Amino acid sequence: MSEDHPIFEEKAWGLNSKQIKLTRLARKLGQEKFSLRAAHYDRTATFPTENYKDLFESGLIGVCIPEPSGGHGADFKTYMLTAAEIGRYCGATALTFNMHVSSCLWSGHLIDTLDIDGADREKHNVSREIHYKRILNEGAIYAQPFSEGGSAAAGSSTFQTIALKVDNGWIVNGKKIFASLSGHANYYGTLCTEISEVAGTQDRMNTTYLAIPANSEGVSVEGEWDPLGMRGTVSRNLIFKDVFVPDNAKLMPSGVYHKAAKRWPHMFMTLTPAYMGISQAAYDFTIKYLRGEMPGTPPVKRRMHPTKQIAVAEMRIILEQTKGIWFQAITEAGPYPSRESLLRAWAAQYTVMENSNKIAQLAIRTCGGQSMLKSLHLERLYRDSRCGSLMLPWTSELCLDMLGKATLYESGERDE
Ligand SMILES: Cc1cc2nc3c(=O)[nH]c(=O)nc-3n(C[C@H](O)[C@H](O)[C@H](O)COP(=O)(O)OP(=O)(O)OC[C@H]3O[C@@H](n4cnc5c(N)ncnc54)[C@H](O)[C@@H]3O)c2cc1C
Repeated sequence: MSEDHPIFEEKAWGLNSKQIKLTRLARKLGQEKFSLRAAHYDRTATFPTENYKDLFESGLIGVCIPEPSGGHGADFKTYMLTAAEIGRYCGATALTFNMHVSSCLWSGHLIDTLDIDGADREKHNVSREIHYKRILNEGAIYAQPFSEGGSAAAGSSTFQTIALKVDNGWIVNGKKIFASLSGHANYYGTLCTEISEVAGTQDRMNTTYLAIPANSEGVSVEGEWDPLGMRGTVSRNLIFKDVFVPDNAKLMPSGVYHKAAKRWPHMFMTLTPAYMGISQAAYDFTIKYLRGEMPGTPPVKRRMHPTKQIAVAEMRIILEQTKGIWFQAITEAGPYPSRESLLRAWAAQYTVMENSNKIAQLAIRTCGGQSMLKSLHLERLYRDSRCGSLMLPWTSELCLDMLGKATLYESGERDE
């Protein structure tokens, strides 16, 4: 089997040595292992457990754990490039990997580059080691259930999952929907509203991020999971009923999540690499198929038709546009972005999430009827690609909303 070329040609896009090493590792795992299992997870809507064993054994499970703590110390951009390579071969693995990695990226690189209180930082640097050790030594998997069905995940109201402060920890009550990795993660990195008394007032500033052990009493998983795409994510509902969570469960100091969301907004782009990878995969499929080189299909060439050539040219243009804006956005990501940079991040998010589906649609139209049979992976790419624009808080709709408003109004400006 010949090795796939990188999504971002290393020299042309100026990848550094860590980015080259990690993207190569992810691509090798993806091509040799994940691509062979992806159809099974999709067909059965089951979690990619075997892929996570590979991620653990290869060390990628700790990709964003800082180097002094034993991880690869990938920063935001390095992680995004690495995860995109995984997304090419199994979208569900890349998307769930994002939920897992965010617990390390946000508690690591993000906090390290934010100005927070010195005492909070000191305490946090000690407590995050607990999570990092579990991941590196035991292969612990972290999920990231935020969504509740209301407007909290979009950032417009408080989370209704409540963490009541008690001696040595919290009592958590609430319900999360679309909790990817449900029933498979060892810890649920859950956004809750922290209160100190039962009738306490709720404030978004009091959002806290707790790693709730999956085997705690009072944690249960419910509901069916039979969706259109991203079926291997197993995103069912999670119920927390009087769950006691110890003090060391904190993934961020109190109140920091809300600040991070405002000061490091690119953090919400971590849902895009899965779809960047899918865009590349749908394009790659089309080239192989039209050249008559798709394994499992007769060696029939279709490339000589001018309509096919034009469609491939269109796909290439959309792919290059997508890669260009995405690469720029992940390159300039960091704390306190300029207004221009933030607007570009929304445009990049929208572009990746919409274009992955556009490229997959064009791929099916161009390759033709046989290409959408379930024996080939294009139809999975097509279904998976449709899910990207639904991910809160930066859904395609909300990106349009925010971009339109921010373009026409200066900060604080109102109409009479
Ligand atoms: C495959 C998959 C995996 C997922 N995994 C996770 C996960 O691991 N963790 C997690 O927390 N969530 C996860 N989600 C959930 C996702 O982030 C959204 O929360 C979910 O898709 C929202 O669905 P809904 O029908 O409740 O949307 P609604 O809240 O009803 O929103 C529908 C649409 O309305 C718009 N909208 C929503 N709120 C507002 C608002 N305040 N103002 C203006 N417009 C708004 C948005 O465009 C949104 O797409 C996953 C979703 C999918 C599809």
